Amino acid sequence: MRIYSTSGTTGDPCYIPLTAGDLAAWIEISSRSYSATGLRRGQRAASTYNAGPFVAGAALDTFAQLGLTHIPVGTGNTERLARVLQTIRPQALICTPSYAQYLGEWLKERKIDPASLGLQRISVAGEPGGGEPSFRSNIESTFGATVCEAMGIGDVSISLWGECDQQQGMHFSGGDYVHVELIDPASGEPRAMSDGAEGELVYTALRREAAPVLRFRSRDHVAIWTEPCACGRKSIRTRCMGRTDDMLIVRGVNLFPTAIRDVVAGFRPEVSGALLVRSTAPGIRQEPPLPIDVELGAGDSAVPGLAERIEAAIRAKLIVSTRINLVPYGSLPRSEYKTKLVKH
Ligand SMILES: [Zn+2]
Repeated sequence: MRIYSTSGTTGDPCYIPLTAGDLAAWIEISSRSYSATGLRRGQRAASTYNAGPFVAGAALDTFAQLGLTHIPVGTGNTERLARVLQTIRPQALICTPSYAQYLGEWLKERKIDPASLGLQRISVAGEPGGGEPSFRSNIESTFGATVCEAMGIGDVSISLWGECDQQQGMHFSGGDYVHVELIDPASGEPRAMSDGAEGELVYTALRREAAPVLRFRSRDHVAIWTEPCACGRKSIRTRCMGRTDDMLIVRGVNLFPTAIRDVVAGFRPEVSGALLVRSTAPGIRQEPPLPIDVELGAGDSAVPGLAERIEAAIRAKLIVSTRINLVPYGSLPRSEYKTKLVKH
């Protein structure tokens, strides 16, 4: 019925075919996960995903199934999105966590208070990081809205996990359709799905008709929780720390750039929250101190000792030595989709 393709940033695009049954299954799984994030029938919801060639477009089918009053805005037009937020006043916004952060800045620069727009819910997906405590609470206080995250994977299902109001990780939503396992990313050996376990997620399609995958490695490095959730859902929960491809190893310590971003976010408003890790060696192994550009907050000049305080906080929380280079506000790239946090 449909053939999506991957972006092919590291080579030729791969094609992802779906039969009518496959698409119906994606919509069912994704409806479960997006509904966990607080999207409800009759709610006005603005989305920022393009229909384009990529699987994210299938989320639009899901929003119809959920019965949302869907306002598709697409990627790449913040002006248009701001106008929608001001005039149609949706209760919900669906975007990447990077874009939610950028949108908050964009509005403030134009003297629009994001909290005045009446957004109640921001459902974030598309990249890891939406569940990091400091990063999340900054977006929540900026907009006065609850932020819940969802996660999927193109080869398996557009959305596959969704976080409930408890904000204790994303619930697995692929039951009956997808089997999920946890493995040790280095050895490939299975790991028990026990409360607090970490590893890489591996998926097997149980009912897929076109291009079913068998023990497909996600490259998503996650933590898993199995204890019952107060919301009543029985499914396991997860938080994605990052793609194993994004992981750096600094003198034996596994480091995800999203974890650095969360520590840096704790220094707002002295910093904007934007950062760029400048790797000094090709590949994942890096020598300390790891150089990181951290952007100052809007209108602020560097307060003496700020860089040292950030370095100390990262060392205390992540056990990694860094060298923070403070750069002017607005000098690091922003993204309306996914943000690259590491420059090799
Ligand atoms: Zn729950």
